[in-house]
Amino acid sequence: MTRKIGSGTLVIATHNAGKLKEISALLEPHGIKCISAGSLGLPEPAETGRTFVENALIKARAAAEASGLASLADDSGLSVDALNGRPGVYTANWAERQWFEGEPGRDWYMAMGKVEGMLQHIGPDADRTAAFHCVLALAWPDGESAIYEGECAGSLTWPPRGLLGFGYDPVFVPTGSDLTFAEIEPEQKHGISHRADAFAKLVADQFGG
Ligand code: IMP
Repeated sequence: MTRKIGSGTLVIATHNAGKLKEISALLEPHGIKCISAGSLGLPEPAETGRTFVENALIKARAAAEASGLASLADDSGLSVDALNGRPGVYTANWAERQWFEGEPGRDWYMAMGKVEGMLQHIGPDADRTAAFHCVLALAWPDGESAIYEGECAGSLTWPPRGLLGFGYDPVFVPTGSDLTFAEIEPEQKHGISHRADAFAKLVADQFGG
């Protein structure tokens, strides 16, 4: 049986205020007080893992060791079957570029174009099957951990469609839909996403549903 968080404080291993808000809203009804690694001034570890699980564990373990409290981290990304799972853990890196005056930033159209370029290089019959993955890792200061894996299966379309969402949403069509994630209302996306799947598994296991 998985170790339980119980009630109390959980460190969310993120420096992103939006992510903290979203995760707090899901866990606070279960009596958990969420604080972010950013607000505790904890350093962000390098994501050197080769899988979503390894990266989520690196982040959760670093926060648990530094804070002395149970910690939760997530890692997510897009895996394309015909590209042997790429971009995978490098999903965000594929969007990195230097803007003018050397400012680093992310260009999602460039990243989607890279994926599409590789599919077109394979040929017109390339398998466009893809999936978004989300791994949640819980870690305790004594080294124990638990993993919850979520997935949203779909396929890639081109050109990009829709203005909602973020990242690779405009090219991802979830199975059973004709619309891309960027054409679906956020509430609907949150019901079927890889993150929703992973959180449903965490909540069912930790709090019994
Ligand atoms: P991280 O888990 O915060 O490192 O994010 C990994 C990257 O995966 C993000 O920067 C996005 O590009 C991509 N990603 C994760 N979830 C989604 C999603 O729901 N839609 C589009 N892109 C996503």
